Formats: sequence, structure tokens, C-alpha cells
Amino acid sequence: MFSPVSGRSVVVTGGTKGIGKGIAAVFAQAGARVTIVGRDEATAQAATAELASGGADVAFVVADVSRPADCTRMAREVVAQRGGIDVLCANAGIFPAQKLADMSEADFDEVFDTNVKGCVFSVQACTDALAASGHGRVVLTSSITGPITGYPGWAHYGASKAAQLGFLRTAAIELAPKGITVNAVLPGNIATEGLADLGEDYLATMAASIPLKRLGDPEDIGYAALFFASDEAGYVTGQTLVVDGGQILPESLEALAAAEA
Ligand code: NAP
Repeated sequence: MFSPVSGRSVVVTGGTKGIGKGIAAVFAQAGARVTIVGRDEATAQAATAELASGGADVAFVVADVSRPADCTRMAREVVAQRGGIDVLCANAGIFPAQKLADMSEADFDEVFDTNVKGCVFSVQACTDALAASGHGRVVLTSSITGPITGYPGWAHYGASKAAQLGFLRTAAIELAPKGITVNAVLPGNIATEGLADLGEDYLATMAASIPLKRLGDPEDIGYAALFFASDEAGYVTGQTLVVDGGQILPESLEALAAAEA
């Protein structure tokens, strides 16, 4: 039996849409006090209203995680409003596609600024509050893309998601004396607003390649984050958990199709 996370203050960056909103919903349903973070105020307001509609305790802060000053303000506002931070889900990320041949320095910087620097700045900004909680938890949203797989157009994105794991391992060591664990969820293809932008063909091809034969739901990632945030996972740090319906498993898609026929 897992101890409840009810009453814990949980920050979810990129919590206004997609996977982050699914993570926020899972923690809110578990009774946590959740603060979601995104750049667009109208989207944040709408997501907060939706998540709080069942009586859950959800608030938002507008911030751009690629800016260190925004991350500092975000942490300050959450501490002021919630009295502290127990869990940081550093989830905000972008995945614009660009083939290597056409990739500019600006394309590369855009992805790294949000996915890598944003992750690092969020953790830095929340460290004191997480340490003060006595049981701080950081859960990163990486990806199978980069750490395990590749996909045309996502060389910069894959590099950013692999970089998050390099950060994770040293952050886990540095933050361990403060009682903070740092772990990561590696989602496969999850049905989000961002993924929908890639088009029906992409979604159908991906669903067919997944042994469980469906895209993941944002809440599937939320349940993995909830495990890493639990008291019972207090001895787990610097680790990763793939949540992908088995997508990385087949040695050959043709063999998978033949076995299913
Ligand atoms: P999404 O639907 O596009 O949502 C992205 C969220 O991040 C939004 O709330 C967005 O809000 C916020 N965001 C983006 N840039 C930000 C910034 N600079 N500062 C603060 N917030 C920012 O994306 P998603 O599919 O849920 O992806 C979420 C995370 O999961 C990403 O890290 C992504 O790499 C990872 N992931 C996704 C999948 C998938 O299949 N969907 C698979 C593997 C990994 P604003 O635009 O208003 O800022």
C-alpha cells in the first residue's frame, strides 16, 4: 500500500497541456495541491479550471522555463502560495521537426533552451524548497527518442532528451544529501495536443508499431510520475522508466506484424 501524496505541493512545468496536464490530473486526483506552469495565460487558466472542476486544488503560474528569472519567480510564487514544494515534475518541452540538412543554430538553440536549459533552471530554482520539504522529488519527462531510439527530423530533440538523462545522473548525486531524488519517465508516443500536430498519418503509423496497439494516454505518464514521487520510492534515484506500450521492444516491425497475423 502506497502512502498518500495528499496535501503535497506539486509543480508541473508544461502542465497546461498534454502529458503535463495528465501528470497534474493524476496528482490532483490523489489529493495533492498542484501548480501547473506554461507560457500562455489563457491556456493555463482553462487547464486550471478543467483540472479543478472536480474540486481538486489546482493553481497556475505563467512562466517560460527557458528563462532562469522566470524559473526563480515560479518557485518563489509557488512557495508563497502553497507554503513549499514537495515535488517538481520538469516536463515542459517542445519537439519541432527539422532535418539535419536544414537545421540552423536557431532551431537547435530553441529546442535546447526549453528542453535542456529549462529542465536545469527549473530544478535549480526549486532545489531549496524541495530540500526544505524533507522528501523532495524531481521527476523529469525525457523520451524514448534520443536515449533509446531515433526519428528523422528529431536529431536536436533526441539530443536534448538524452542530455536530460546526463543531467539527471549528476543531479541525483548532488541532490541526494538534501534528501531529494531525481528520476525520469521516458514516454513513447502519447496522445497529446503536441503529438496531434504531427498529423493523422504519423499517429496511425505509430499506433500500428506499438505492441499494445494504442498511443499512450497522458495519465499513463502521470502514474509513473506518481510512483517516483511516492514515499515508497524514496530509495530510487537517478533512474529511468520507459512507458511506451512496448514500442521499443520489437526487433523487426515486419516480424511483429507476421507474429500478429
Ligand atoms: P504539448 O502537448 O505540446 O504540451 C507542452 C506543454 O509545455 C504545454 O503546457 C506548453 O505550454 C508547455 N511549454 C512549452 N514550452 C515551454 C516553456 N518554454 N516554458 C514553459 N512551458 C512550456 O507537449 P507534450 O506532447 O505533452 O510533451 C510534454 C513533454 O513530454 C515534453 O518534454 C516532450 O518532449 C515529452 N514527450 C512527449 C511525447 C509524446 O508522445 N507526446 C513523447 C515523449 C516525450 P505553453 O506552450 O503555453 O508554454
